Amino acid sequence: LKKVLLDSEKLILAGQLSAGLVHEIRNPLTSLKGFLQLVQAGVEQKEEYYKVMIGEIDKLEKITSELLHMAKPFKNNKKNESIHEMIKDVVFIMSTQMDMKDIHFTLDLEDNLHYFCNASQIKQVLINLIKNGAEAMNKSGTIMINSRIEDNQIAIDIIDEGQGMSDEIVQELNNPFFTTKPDGTGLGLVITHHILEMHNGLLKVSTDENKGSIFTILLPLVDR
Ligand code: ADP
Ligand code: MG
Repeated sequence: LKKVLLDSEKLILAGQLSAGLVHEIRNPLTSLKGFLQLVQAGVEQKEEYYKVMIGEIDKLEKITSELLHMAKPFKNNKKNESIHEMIKDVVFIMSTQMDMKDIHFTLDLEDNLHYFCNASQIKQVLINLIKNGAEAMNKSGTIMINSRIEDNQIAIDIIDEGQGMSDEIVQELNNPFFTTKPDGTGLGLVITHHILEMHNGLLKVSTDENKGSIFTILLPLVDR
């Protein structure tokens, strides 16, 4: 039954994605076509139009590259992996980028936690959540990552000091392409959910406007 449910969820996800996708791709294409026609007609201020067109192409590029990530999770090569190591690896690769924004990590990690998983996918989840945390902070601050065992589950918290989310925003979090950022794709959390689902895991969120958010990854140590 679990397998059937997962498959039907995948179908629902695919359906939601393709409906949204048509929209997300058609908009920049329509605008590209319009601006090209203007340039072809010989308007002044071509430079301005080119800038907009490049912006639209960037958007299309971003959407397609995120969808590529989305396709990867279907490949399955799981191994017993150290939670500690995966978090350390991600923090290492992101630290230069974070230092530039004056954002620093604080880690409080339980030793010796292991999970049967696809390491690059779980790292992708961590990256998505850390990125969101950093993007929610428009000043310097700290991203705290904790790992622990709670009720037979591995729990990993990603805690930011950002702007938090209103109830309306929290309601929208599962919708593909929902974004409040001018250059967002709204795919990060959809991909995150999808990867965690493939690992029998869950994502929990708690948030406080003006204070920050806590995204918690839960991975069961026994079968759900
Ligand atoms: P994107 O980052 O491209 O907007 P996501 O799926 O990663 O897409 O996130 C969707 C939306 O959820 C964001 O635009 C933002 O409004 C909200 N969000 C996600 N994580 C956080 C966070 N840590 N703090 C505040 N808002 C967040
Ligand atoms: Mg994101």
